[in-house]
Amino acid sequence: VRFEDLGLSETTLAAVNKMGFATPSPIQAAFVPLALSGKDVIGQARTGSGKTAAFVLPILERVDAEKGYPQALVLTPTRELSQQIAEEASRLSLKHPLRSVCCVGGRNIRPQITDLKKGAQLVIGTPGRIIDLMQRGELDTSRLKMVVLDEADRMLDIGFRPDIERILRKCPTERQTLLLSATLPAPVARLAQKYMNDPERVDV
Ligand code: AMP
Repeated sequence: VRFEDLGLSETTLAAVNKMGFATPSPIQAAFVPLALSGKDVIGQARTGSGKTAAFVLPILERVDAEKGYPQALVLTPTRELSQQIAEEASRLSLKHPLRSVCCVGGRNIRPQITDLKKGAQLVIGTPGRIIDLMQRGELDTSRLKMVVLDEADRMLDIGFRPDIERILRKCPTERQTLLLSATLPAPVARLAQKYMNDPERVDV
């Protein structure tokens, strides 16, 4: 399988090429075409599998850069992971006029608010800070097209379930939900059952 076969635009392929990615990893080969089709997808994949690009590439294709409001939200268990995803997204969006913001606790909230006000389309963060920004009226989730739950098993282990549910209840019901998890124990399956719409499953 080649990146050219996944249904990505020329703009995105150019960025992938610039990153030096030769061929898609197994999770990318399986996950990207399904995500591009608009379906909800559960991907069983761990760190190092290339799972970040697997959801960032479809986000790049679906975000409308002309519209200055949040269209994609990525929830992660840790500040470090949010930061890594933001960096990978920034490298992959080299050719896209995409604005993204990393919203994590333990950091000054002001610059995050400023970036949101400037019209960030991609919001990456940890559940606590995301809720804080929503409560302050600084993060509008009403027009999100995509929500990604990354490392869902770890988020639930940490105890983020109530926060995740609070956030998802404020997201449009007609959205695309992508879930990535190294393992799929019952609590993750229940979350998917409750908040995803007839998801496809990809195991690699
Ligand atoms: P991840 O599993 O998303 O944390 O990615 C692990 C590392 O692999 C990151 O440094 C990515 O930039 C890199 N990577 C992702 N996809 C590919 C690919 N198709 N070919 C080579 N490297 C990749």
